[in-house]
Amino acid sequence: MGAEIPFRKSFYLDLPRDFYQPAAPSPAPSPQWVAFNEGLARELGLPEQADTPELLNLLSGGAPGDGRDNIALAYSGHQFGQWNPLMGDGRAVIVGEIAAPDGGVFDIHLKGSGPTPFARRGDGRATLSAMLREYIVSEAMAGLGVPTTRSLAVAATGAAVFRDGARPGAVLTRVARSHIRVGTFQYAAGRDAAGDAGPIRTRALADAAIQRHDPELARADNPYLAFYRAIVARQARLIAQWMLVGFIHGVMNSDNMAVSGETIDFGPCAFMDAFNMRQVYSSIDAAGRYAYNRQPSIAQWNLARLAESLLPLFDQDDATALRLAQESVETFQPIYAQALAAGLERKLGLPAGDPGNEEIFAAMWQALSASKADFTNFFLRLTAIAEGGEDGDAALDDTSAFLAIWRAGLEKNDRRAALAAMRAANPKLIARNHRVEQALAAANAGDMGPFNRLCAALKTPFALAPDDADLQAPPLPEEVVHETFC
Ligand code: AMP
Ligand code: MG
Ligand code: MG
Repeated sequence: MGAEIPFRKSFYLDLPRDFYQPAAPSPAPSPQWVAFNEGLARELGLPEQADTPELLNLLSGGAPGDGRDNIALAYSGHQFGQWNPLMGDGRAVIVGEIAAPDGGVFDIHLKGSGPTPFARRGDGRATLSAMLREYIVSEAMAGLGVPTTRSLAVAATGAAVFRDGARPGAVLTRVARSHIRVGTFQYAAGRDAAGDAGPIRTRALADAAIQRHDPELARADNPYLAFYRAIVARQARLIAQWMLVGFIHGVMNSDNMAVSGETIDFGPCAFMDAFNMRQVYSSIDAAGRYAYNRQPSIAQWNLARLAESLLPLFDQDDATALRLAQESVETFQPIYAQALAAGLERKLGLPAGDPGNEEIFAAMWQALSASKADFTNFFLRLTAIAEGGEDGDAALDDTSAFLAIWRAGLEKNDRRAALAAMRAANPKLIARNHRVEQALAAANAGDMGPFNRLCAALKTPFALAPDDADLQAPPLPEEVVHETFC
């Protein structure tokens, strides 16, 4: 069976040697599947019933098979604004890549599989809770149609991990279009600046990234500038999608931002329940640097760091390169604003591009802030009102001014188009924090039932099975999760 697992050598091995370190994962003493994503396995073209003992061995850090890479990637990054020149995968290894039947190529990455040369003081391990949290939230994002890395499996290792006590350990198999981060380019630029051979590493990385993500741009007039502008556009649209589902990443360090435009590195992330423009859940973000409303400007800040790393590739003339970078980073805001507006139009059932929409959006943010309404269910209420099934004036406090102008906007739209848009844009389910915590607590106690139920429901978040109605409810006061941990 080992030979049938169709992982191949990954493209990082063709990069200059300082982009990675060999890093064999450590085998788990007593591996056990905790989660296996059959739908994703099928999409990747893995054999039917792929969750065999051989694959379990491989994906829990077991003996290398044919075609395995076992490398940890180097990167730098700004962590909470602080420059850290040498990070890298401290507890993760790339074991190969896979070409899916649809033509997509994906990294296969193990997280929590033991210390690598980048681990420094870390133990290289991950708790079962943290890996199941990434599994739930990444798959919830995929269900919502938000670009994201995926989770193929979680294997319990049978070894304890020591945090605030002994916790069960686990390895997550992450599937990603690549692991090239803004921080990978920062690393390349830093190494190039320390040498005297010009931007050789930056160019090699950019060429590989263009091949992987934007091969058509290799023929552009200025491929590196076109590539950078494509990344800016992807990130602008991605952050708009986060904002539209109330997602708060929690650790938007430049090493946690992928040039693919996928959401990556799910730590203390969360979906917002009660609306708060400045919501923070992460226990490690006391200053609120990565609050809900700061996500667009932080993304743009990270993209400015990316532009700095790419400067010598934009133009040989420094002043010209700087001007091109400046113009390009400034494309973020209009693309973001356009994506957000288009998304809000769908969520609110408004006619696309109507000049009155901006005023309705402003009233909506105001109403959400004043009412502290549950973000997800607020839009479901509006959908119900649009369907004629609910009298909104009675149902929503603090929102009557908004409701009046929203109804006027809604009336301008074709009724069937409005309802279709609202139903397709307003999820019935998100991965609610209290449900995630309940699933993790049960899993730690050996009961995977709540986890399995939550993951199954989150595959189709725009359709709610009658049995799953409880998953839609906001937390009771005693269930509210105020803080999330990674
Ligand atoms: P993160 O906050 O998850 O993005 O991680 C920041 C950096 O710390 C990354 O380079 C990780 O690989 C590394 N890291 C996090 N946890 C551990 C651990 N338990 N052992 C080794 N390295 C770790
Ligand atoms: Mg990270
Ligand atoms: Mg469903």
